[in-house]
Amino acid sequence: MKLELQEYRPRRIVNVHQHVDGPWFWGRYSAHPYVGCRSGCHFCYARGGRYLGRRDPATFDEIIQVKVNAVELLRRELPRLQPEVIAAGDWQQPAEDRYRLSRGMLEVILDLGFPLYVNERSPLVTRDLDLLVAIDRRSHASVSFSMSGVDPALKRAFEPRSPGVKQRLGAMARLAEAGILVGASLMPILQFAGDDERHLDETIRAVRDHGGSYVIAGGLTMEGAQAERTLAAAHRLDAALDGRWRELYGWGAPEGPSHGPRPSYSARLGLKVRELCARHLILDRMPRYVAAGPLAVNKRVAERLFLRAYDLELEEAPGYRVWAYRKAAWAIDEWPTSVAGILAARGEAGLRAVPGVGSSIAREVAAWVRDGVVGDGAEDGAGPGEPGPREP
Ligand code: SF4
Repeated sequence: MKLELQEYRPRRIVNVHQHVDGPWFWGRYSAHPYVGCRSGCHFCYARGGRYLGRRDPATFDEIIQVKVNAVELLRRELPRLQPEVIAAGDWQQPAEDRYRLSRGMLEVILDLGFPLYVNERSPLVTRDLDLLVAIDRRSHASVSFSMSGVDPALKRAFEPRSPGVKQRLGAMARLAEAGILVGASLMPILQFAGDDERHLDETIRAVRDHGGSYVIAGGLTMEGAQAERTLAAAHRLDAALDGRWRELYGWGAPEGPSHGPRPSYSARLGLKVRELCARHLILDRMPRYVAAGPLAVNKRVAERLFLRAYDLELEEAPGYRVWAYRKAAWAIDEWPTSVAGILAARGEAGLRAVPGVGSSIAREVAAWVRDGVVGDGAEDGAGPGEPGPREP
């Protein structure tokens, strides 16, 4: 299969997200040095959405665009930003062996004191263990290894060229031994193929046995060329599977197929994963890193609000209730003064003046701050091995 590396020099590298992506990876920024991926996993969402721009989706794993100025761009752009978590690097590219751009980006992140989050399928990330440890000592580093499960049949069917799951787990153990916060993003979990209790239990146990502190689970999304490839791979694995998926996603429905699984399916999956995580004594959410400082209390309050929104999703609560907590989480996360200070000066009325915070959420927040469950703004961030507020 052909492989073409196309060097180019983009004008920018850092994506600044509108809001932190709680309660998932807690990142505010992302920066990646390559476009396209040699692994070419059939279910990869990057083949189906806007990620490739105008490129033909068929070239996703054949043409890898290399941002040769990634390191210098990062050094120029990061000093203009507040030091919040950045998701960076990309080790799952054969091109990384040659260009070492991910390593160069870690050096910049270390120099500038930004906390780091990495989501990977490749054990090559351990090549840069020295830098990950140094970043973690200076601020924070965490790494999620991405996998659908530990069943080799699923790996062969849907991600034939990605690094083996055993290698990923071995890398996870190495990073855990070095004190890095590690876990797994179980994405995508494959409906009717990898979402039963046996598959999930084996996978979560394996993550725990390799030093993982958490798993985050998500179902399969389907769009465009990626959906066609994923359904074809499902059919090759099991001739009935693609039909079941088409039905689940509403292919043939007058309004067209849905992009993701139904909310009721996601809620059931989330609850099952939560139950198994409790059994294996790991978290079903990633702990949030929060730097010490006067606004740390806002970040901790926002974390709890995001987690509350997620709990409501699992309970299949009405959308407006979920939305109220999410909106309040964003507002408090981004508010420029300490909510502890607001409460001390103006009481709950001061909290209600923050746009997006209604009276019942203001009451809850006030109780958390008064009871000290979100700290007073002077605590260190949750480091490796220190779970956030949700413990199983
Ligand atoms: S390794 Fe990750 S980025 Fe690459 S194709 Fe697979 S899922 Fe996509």
